[in-house]
Amino acid sequence: VPELPEVEVTRRRVAPLVVGRTIAEITTSASRRLFLTPPSRLRQQLLGRRVDAVERLGKYLLFRLHDGGRLCVHLGMTGQLVTSNAFERPCTPGGTRRRTAPDRHIHLELGFADTGPTLFFRDPRQFGRVLGLTAGHSHLRLERLGPDALAIGLGEFASRVRARRAPIKAVLLDQKLLAGVGNIYADEALFLARVLPTRRACRLTREDSRRLLSAVQGVLRRAIRAGGTTVSDFVHPDGSDGGFQRRCRVYGREGQGCTRCGTPIRRVVLAQRSAHFCPRCQQ
Ligand SMILES: [Zn+2]
Repeated sequence: VPELPEVEVTRRRVAPLVVGRTIAEITTSASRRLFLTPPSRLRQQLLGRRVDAVERLGKYLLFRLHDGGRLCVHLGMTGQLVTSNAFERPCTPGGTRRRTAPDRHIHLELGFADTGPTLFFRDPRQFGRVLGLTAGHSHLRLERLGPDALAIGLGEFASRVRARRAPIKAVLLDQKLLAGVGNIYADEALFLARVLPTRRACRLTREDSRRLLSAVQGVLRRAIRAGGTTVSDFVHPDGSDGGFQRRCRVYGREGQGCTRCGTPIRRVVLAQRSAHFCPRCQQ
């Protein structure tokens, strides 16, 4: 599931490929759930517009257009932004490259007014979303997002956490409170901060909050540097894997020894998601 680091990695790799280019061709699938803006309107909003920047807010990617409009893409569970280069894979390491065709999971295809690569939005399970916004307009989905997890300061984080009675793990996953953190990084940050996922948020001391925010931001930054986490479907725009999954300390390690004390990592279901933790190191 793409979380903030995967979306940021995607943003950094897609931006240089599309910024400064003018959208000249749009092809969409018949998916009804993916397009929050009907494809016919999307076409009116995008065609002939130059992409000026690619920004990120929480887990949303925002393509800023020169007329002030924006194209918002949420990768959902299995969404990928890939360029036409991703369909060229070497047959053998270092061997000749073979072209494979885009498949039936492509829902949006952006062609540009030059000979450079085409951008594809591919999403097998269709939990992703595509939204077009004209200049000056926003959408409830963006407006109700909390501050970005990499940008929030300790004062605001601590007061938002203190106001909640839910388990801290559920609070970290709430995008209205903090945008960008998902299951993997919440588990990893709670382990690093030595806080049990089941602890009520309002019971965290100021010092707990300080350690937790520092752990959240640290783990997100390290994951971005590692190229994101590839658990099931996340790939880079060129089709390669992320590298962070090999560095997880608790996520996906149920029954294996804690890297700090050797106690088997436990897994419980919390807020309909699995939470991984060390019952000895975390309190
Ligand atoms: Zn431990």
